[in-house]
Amino acid sequence: MLAEPRQVVGVSAAFPNFTYHGGPVVKCPQIYAAFWGGLWTSDPNHLVLAGRITEFLRDLLSSKFMNILSQYGVGFGAGVAGSFVRASFVTSVPSVLTNALIQGVIQNSINAGVIPEPPATNNNIVLMIYLDDNTGVSDGGLVVCETGGDAFGFHTWFNTSAGHPFFYAIMPGLTDNCLKQSCQNDAFCSLHLAETQEQRITQVSSHEFAEMTTDPQLNGWFSLDLSHEIGDICNGEADTITVGANTWTVQRQYSKTDDINSNGTSFCLAEAPNPIPKLSPGPASLTAGHPRIAQLHSLNALLPLPPISFDHETGNVSVEQADVVKYVSRIFDYSEFVPDLPGLLRVIADALSASESAPETQGRGIASVTSKPGNS
Ligand SMILES: [Zn+2]
Repeated sequence: MLAEPRQVVGVSAAFPNFTYHGGPVVKCPQIYAAFWGGLWTSDPNHLVLAGRITEFLRDLLSSKFMNILSQYGVGFGAGVAGSFVRASFVTSVPSVLTNALIQGVIQNSINAGVIPEPPATNNNIVLMIYLDDNTGVSDGGLVVCETGGDAFGFHTWFNTSAGHPFFYAIMPGLTDNCLKQSCQNDAFCSLHLAETQEQRITQVSSHEFAEMTTDPQLNGWFSLDLSHEIGDICNGEADTITVGANTWTVQRQYSKTDDINSNGTSFCLAEAPNPIPKLSPGPASLTAGHPRIAQLHSLNALLPLPPISFDHETGNVSVEQADVVKYVSRIFDYSEFVPDLPGLLRVIADALSASESAPETQGRGIASVTSKPGNS
């Protein structure tokens, strides 16, 4: 019997130990963004930045970046990979956070109805938390945007008081000062002073989002060698994605499929032309996720919900009336009901100005009607 000659000798994937470890993945991400700290709402520039970040998260889901994550069982590729649901603004958060404090704020946000309680299994809810420039994390070995910083962001999870797994990622303000505290020699840092704050934040967001969805409970996709997750292997490799008129800075992610196909020569990508088929061995079939994706997409016209504000100290929850009006006018296309909206507005304006000039004896408004005797 002839032995088949091997086509390639001595060449293999660069990260053969990057494998699936049996835990859950986020099959259909439902992204909630939370902006923690007063600066997000008190400073107009930060309010604009918060709007840009939510736009980025929506674009990310519809971008070809998601064609990389499909191989790990996260979504079905660009545009069929989940939804951005809602942004919240949380004030009165401690300025130096520990993981226990972070989880306390998340739990209180759940209790107040600002973010949902995740289900016990098949949890697809992910929370992207953005700290303002005055807020940092210091928790033992983990220091973010504080003196002696060693990380520009992280993701982890905890069990809510109802016993359900909650997945979250922390993205700090990433000011120049934050960068200098965490990494002294710019040339060797994963983020750079030449980048704008927005570019740094979207770059770290892509890293943490990719890792949180592929390894939400730290027992999904990672390499045993150095506990590398998909963002860590390509850490600091900035690239861009373009969605419509927007070009965003992201970080390239590890593609195991490309690593195998290129025999270890090319495996960090910002996007793939088509959804990369799911790897085997990998998470269980996504068939059960199909109806959920279809259901979410039918709801996409209703998303995102208007932003919600939460004061962590007082427990006060509020939604700006202007945001509700904007939301309602966006989801209801008036043109379907009123073909000539400008014309109708003119008629209403004319009617109003006519009543303004009408003799006072006619009486005006609701009061004159309800004060008629006999009305009940
Ligand atoms: Zn990482």
